[in-house]
Amino acid sequence: MLTTLTDYRLWALPRNYVKIADAMIQEILDSGAVFEDIADAPVEYVESRGDLDVIFHELRGTKGCNVQACYDPYIDPPAIFVHLSGNTGRDNFSVLHELAHHQQRVGDAWADVTEDITDRAFIKELREKVANSFASRLLLHEDLIDSAFGSGPVTAAGVRWLFDNSAASMQACLYRSLELEGNRVVMQADSDGRLFFSAANSDELFPPHKDKTQEEIARSFDRLQASADGSLVVRGGYGIQHLSGKSYTNVVLDMVLCDGCVLVIATKGRSEQFAFSDDGEYYQGSVCHDSFLIKDSPGRCSTCNEPKCSKCKSCGCPDKQPPPCTRCFMLLSVNDVRAGLTAHEYC
Ligand SMILES: [Zn+2]
Ligand SMILES: [Zn+2]
Ligand SMILES: [Zn+2]
Ligand SMILES: [Zn+2]
Repeated sequence: MLTTLTDYRLWALPRNYVKIADAMIQEILDSGAVFEDIADAPVEYVESRGDLDVIFHELRGTKGCNVQACYDPYIDPPAIFVHLSGNTGRDNFSVLHELAHHQQRVGDAWADVTEDITDRAFIKELREKVANSFASRLLLHEDLIDSAFGSGPVTAAGVRWLFDNSAASMQACLYRSLELEGNRVVMQADSDGRLFFSAANSDELFPPHKDKTQEEIARSFDRLQASADGSLVVRGGYGIQHLSGKSYTNVVLDMVLCDGCVLVIATKGRSEQFAFSDDGEYYQGSVCHDSFLIKDSPGRCSTCNEPKCSKCKSCGCPDKQPPPCTRCFMLLSVNDVRAGLTAHEYC
């Protein structure tokens, strides 16, 4: 399966880097490790290996990792340095993220995929994404995922269950939910709608910038608290608000209270069921991500019923989607493609 993707850029898509992470996990299991030992007590597992130290440290820098830890292969034995965060789930995630970097150095699975890739920036980004995926797939293994979601859709209540029943941090649970079937934006916010975290697993929905307060979350907070099970589903409303000042309102926001925060799973609404007012409702084009007023749309696509973008005239039909940018992996606009570009001009 690993060799079927000949275009290496496709490895940057979430459901593909998961495959690399799984191959690396399998490599460790093949060498005799027991999955549950790693998942239940990551620090003890790493210490028991004998070829790797775990050192809890206050002062060391983290060398570009997006977790509070780093891996040093140049000492004997190699070591994982972890800044204790006060949150066991986060520390476990950090240790496993760094274990992935060790495995990327000593194992064959990572080398097999990346040996022909010369784009260093791409490799660096992929290395981090795969390390996150590696950590989250160990902490949040398939049995837990089954218990949380069964065969149903990915819900905010399911993510909360994962958090309550695993050794993983809330963000790891949200990351893990991005690897599951279906397209979504995940967010973690406080009661005022200020974001701690937001991410997406497709180009269908854009995650808001962390600095953009989400009014729909803020105004829903009282209703969330008043609800019997701390959960609420909102269709449309303020939608997902972006730093540009524009909003994408064709969404379903599935929210739960969890550990003092609001967890949100946002999915695209069905536009045929969503009533747009003709004056002032924004819509975000699936292709160029430009927001436009519904009344300025040249009309709806007869296939997907999406309003066509006023700028690029495209809808979200998959066969009409242009390829991703070779630098940021967001989809190119139709105009970029027409101009013969393979990357965004200012990317
Ligand atoms: Zn890293
Ligand atoms: Zn269409
Ligand atoms: Zn457009
Ligand atoms: Zn780009």
